[in-house]
Amino acid sequence: MLTLQTPIENFLRVGKTTAKRLQKLGLRTAEDLLFYFPFRYEDWSKITPIGELNYNMAATCRGRVEIIKNTRSFFRKKNVTEALVSDRTGSIKVVWFNQPYLVKILKIGEEIYLSGKVELDRFGIHFTSPSYEKVGSGEETTHTARIVPIYSATENLTHKQIRFLVKMAVPLADKISDWLLPEIKKNFRLVGLGQAIRQAHFPDSKIKFLEARRRLKFDELFLIQLQNLLLKNRLKKSQAPVIGFKEVETKKFINSLPFKLTDGQRRAAWEIIQDIGTSQPMNRLLEGDVGSGKTLVAAVAALNTYLGGYQTVFMVPTEILAKQHYDNLCRLFSDFDIKIGLVMGSEKVANYELEIMDEELIKNKRKKEIHNSEFIIHNSNLVIGTHALIQEKIKFNNLGLAIVDEQHRFGVNQRKALKGNTEIYPHFLSMTATPIPRTMSLVFFGDLDLSMIRELPAGRKKIITKVVSPENRRKAYDFIRREIKGGRQVFVICPLIDPSDKLGVKSVSEEYEKLSKKIFPDLKVGILHGRMKAEDKAKAMKDFSENKSNILVSTSVVEVGVDVQNATIMMVEGAERFGLAQLHQFRGRVGRSTFQSYCFLFSESENIETIKRLDVLVKCEDGFALAEKDLEFRGPGEIWGTRQSGIPDLKVATLTDYQVIKETKTAAENLIKKDPELSAYPDLKNKLWEFEKEVHLE
Ligand code: ADP
Ligand code: MG
Repeated sequence: MLTLQTPIENFLRVGKTTAKRLQKLGLRTAEDLLFYFPFRYEDWSKITPIGELNYNMAATCRGRVEIIKNTRSFFRKKNVTEALVSDRTGSIKVVWFNQPYLVKILKIGEEIYLSGKVELDRFGIHFTSPSYEKVGSGEETTHTARIVPIYSATENLTHKQIRFLVKMAVPLADKISDWLLPEIKKNFRLVGLGQAIRQAHFPDSKIKFLEARRRLKFDELFLIQLQNLLLKNRLKKSQAPVIGFKEVETKKFINSLPFKLTDGQRRAAWEIIQDIGTSQPMNRLLEGDVGSGKTLVAAVAALNTYLGGYQTVFMVPTEILAKQHYDNLCRLFSDFDIKIGLVMGSEKVANYELEIMDEELIKNKRKKEIHNSEFIIHNSNLVIGTHALIQEKIKFNNLGLAIVDEQHRFGVNQRKALKGNTEIYPHFLSMTATPIPRTMSLVFFGDLDLSMIRELPAGRKKIITKVVSPENRRKAYDFIRREIKGGRQVFVICPLIDPSDKLGVKSVSEEYEKLSKKIFPDLKVGILHGRMKAEDKAKAMKDFSENKSNILVSTSVVEVGVDVQNATIMMVEGAERFGLAQLHQFRGRVGRSTFQSYCFLFSESENIETIKRLDVLVKCEDGFALAEKDLEFRGPGEIWGTRQSGIPDLKVATLTDYQVIKETKTAAENLIKKDPELSAYPDLKNKLWEFEKEVHLE
């Protein structure tokens, strides 16, 4: 007897190897299979009489095996199984290759279903390698004569194998407890969970399929909405330190800058100052296009936090950014006695490489002290770092403000990890350059307040963007050479070539070889990718930012935040492989000074759609519009391309499910209004808890 917890390897006819392969897909138990939904379906439900089959039809028919035998094809050097299958209206020839065992499975006189494409040769029409299935007594079919689910398979597992296993698990669907409240199901006319799961795998009809999908989407989005609301409520009730506005010092700081703040920066800073001035924890997202100067706004908040006697932590996604922010903030705060620390993990070293500047050392910037992270976290006023900050599990003792750069989102657990054992919650500020489409903010950011910087600092020129076809590559190189002779610098971004090369090392190394040896042997070319040692990465970045190298060839690690003002050309290889929002991020790496800047998108693709998509970038400078366009062109999963975004993947729903998004929002709001703690709904609470674990927002 199968139960939900039965390991798949205990299923009938499943060997250890298959079980291993399934584990690679995250499938261990019967229950896992139930939640492994097909990514598409093929409708083979209509049965066509054999006499009505025609060349090129994709059809299912039902007939009796008249003849079946193995032969060997002389030409193709293959084993061929040939059969003749007939019904009352006619007969058709069927061939399969290299499956000689079929003669043992499909016996003469047996009735079978065949689904496949009808082909034609000089002897007439036939099926080549159709799906086949015996007509059982009253049993439902699995692989033919129905709407057939197609699962994403791996090299060594076929759709058919997975389908076969799911089919065995599907009768257990009704054992899964349906945690959604009956009144919500009734109000929104949702089918039961068991039915939804069954029909999502083996739909009886298009309508049943749509009902099933709607229920599953509803579940997913509803849980996210509830999570948002609960978090918002929890924060409302928590206590954060009250950080007063220190006007004099803030003015002194702002006046020390070599430029004037933009209106957007001023407004955002003011909104933040107001938020941190109350005991309710701030939960704010600062959105501003690349180069809009978000770091400075964060610095104003950090300064006031320091003056109020609390610590600030500034988390960034990469070590390069951490170093850059550290250098910048040390410079910005050189007139203040703020102790600034840096905590980074390193890929190779198990321990962390740690540095701190204290009051003495700030005055003499060259000297650095090495300390362990505990010392830094407990002794700095401002700590900048990567995820190592959380992994180290060292708690801050006096945290007032947590800033997260280019991550969009910060999970509950991460907040807990930082906040220490006190009951005081720090204020939270997320910063992002990615404009967030409206539906996305409805789904994922319902709990956040929003500040926006809409303008770039004055004096920036429009970045000239061009799609460069292969025949114009030479010209582009000539142009690049002239710019470099004029003192400017160039980024070259390479995509991943094949998925096994996750860090893009291959393409970056090739491009580096080409540019440094063949194209620009007289210039200094640097290289940067994720598999380099931390210190080599830092050195490559440092050389480039000090103009010791003219060209930096890199993977998308420079995508976020990197600031080298003298760089004026962004050249992207294989541009078609990136999303528009991501390309816009790359483009934002240049145009950070008063020099005219350029973005060259190299593409070998001749696909019209691709060229159209890249053309959108040429015409459009507005990151917001680009993100919306990306959603249209490529779907939400592709907006950021990498997992850096910190946005959890939706499994069933998509961001274009506007209707369901609205419904789930309403449902969640009504429920929380009625029962803010969900105390009457232990099952639901349980489900949420599981969900939070699963979709831990990293
Ligand atoms: P982002 O919003 O992309 O994080 P940064 O904070 O890195 O942008 O700022 C980009 C560059 O613009 C930095 O070199 C910064 O010193 C500069 N900058 C910031 N604010 C202004 C301003 N108001 N006027 C001129 N330059 C500014
Ligand atoms: Mg930034």
